[in-house]
Amino acid sequence: MNNIEVNGKNFEILIENDSINKRTRLIGIQLNVDYENRCPIFIGVLNGSFLFMADLIKEVDIACEVGFIRVASYQGTETTGTVKETFGLPDNLHDRDVILVEDIVDTGHTLHYILEKVKAQKPASIAVCSLLFKPAALQKPIEELKYVGFEIPNEFVVGYGLDYDGLGRNLSDIYRAV
Ligand code: 5GP
Repeated sequence: MNNIEVNGKNFEILIENDSINKRTRLIGIQLNVDYENRCPIFIGVLNGSFLFMADLIKEVDIACEVGFIRVASYQGTETTGTVKETFGLPDNLHDRDVILVEDIVDTGHTLHYILEKVKAQKPASIAVCSLLFKPAALQKPIEELKYVGFEIPNEFVVGYGLDYDGLGRNLSDIYRAV
């Protein structure tokens, strides 16, 4: 299906599942090389990353651990605007090779917040693997962003884990708003 409706909003196809699978396989191969003889811990940022994590981890054949965290955001009264909190971040990341798995990096604020929390535990290394990246929306550079599935325009997308008002996460392709 090239055009769909989610909760009354129209979307058109952007990335087909077949392309996602091919790209994910290549990232997996790269991770197997880069982390050979190490035992990284993959940490997925919920909810959006659950499908990408599941498909990615099947392409990784080195020893590894897998976990998930959740980030809550709400508007605070500070001038900085958004206040966030992480739930479920493991507390034993010291000297570990950490790979954060994201669905999408947009402004980069979420990732900056999580990276601070991870760095405080002094891991051996940190890398970020994001399925999607909107370079035009990024507000601060993220040097840890080493693995990117697809760079996309600064448009709202849905599907393959990403939602619109809670819906559409189960779509196997990725769609953009029209
Ligand atoms: P950031 O903090 O980088 O601005 O945003 C990260 C989070 O915002 C993502 O993990 C995702 O949950 C949400 N997000 C950003 N852009 C989009 C988008 O185009 N579609 C959807 N569904 N969520 C998005």
